[in-house]
Amino acid sequence: MRIARFVVDAEPQYGLIEGEPDAPDQDLEVVVLHGDPFFQGIQPTTTRHRLTDVRLVAPIIPRSKIVGVGRNWADHASELGNKVPDSPQFFLKPNTSVVGPGEPVTLPSWTEQVSYEAELAVVIGTICKDVPAERVDDVVFGYTVGNDLTARDAQKADLQWARAKGFDGACPLGPWIETGLKSADTEDLGIRMELDGELVQDGRTADMVFGVREIVSTVSQAFTLLPGDVILTGTPAGVGLVEAGQRTEATVEGIGTLATLYRR
Ligand code: ZN
Repeated sequence: MRIARFVVDAEPQYGLIEGEPDAPDQDLEVVVLHGDPFFQGIQPTTTRHRLTDVRLVAPIIPRSKIVGVGRNWADHASELGNKVPDSPQFFLKPNTSVVGPGEPVTLPSWTEQVSYEAELAVVIGTICKDVPAERVDDVVFGYTVGNDLTARDAQKADLQWARAKGFDGACPLGPWIETGLKSADTEDLGIRMELDGELVQDGRTADMVFGVREIVSTVSQAFTLLPGDVILTGTPAGVGLVEAGQRTEATVEGIGTLATLYRR
């Protein structure tokens, strides 16, 4: 199932996207859900809208954290002159960095080098700690697409990556959460990024150094994970800078496409 958050006139609501996986937006519908599916389960109402009549927002605003994984693709690590680490390398992004599909990101005044990074994002469904790799499916709510925006100049200049990866708008997420995938289904998914329609990243999760099971398990050894927490699993080669007026579209096979606009 595809779980989206949307606005039709007032407060954001959760909904279930109905229609064929590759159907155009005008052929998709949103079935309104009762309350919050993270805490009340997936309870459809009888109300539905055409997808084109609503505005999708970020499918989740994490209550506590977004955990990123650095240098999880050998070809991406080497394009920035880095080695592949022996264990997953983590960083945090605050929940104020989240924006939704199709939303504009204001490029901060203090950076000239904001880079896109298309990523598979894991959305946690259950409070958990020290999760064994073989139990990871028990704690995952679903998967969405992330764009791990990074200010490269600040990433090099600062001792910590907090500003470089945590600025307002640095974590576009969406367009929805796919709950139908198991961790085994994420082992060979295509991940692509288009910049103004040109293909700039084209990787497969099969080339990740650490897979979803190992990442979630290792992250949970450091942090208690809460429902709605998000883990970004790293990006393939082909990262590059964005400028005001440009548009990126990140796609993860089997999940969807996340568009992001940029402005100053
Ligand atoms: Zn990243």
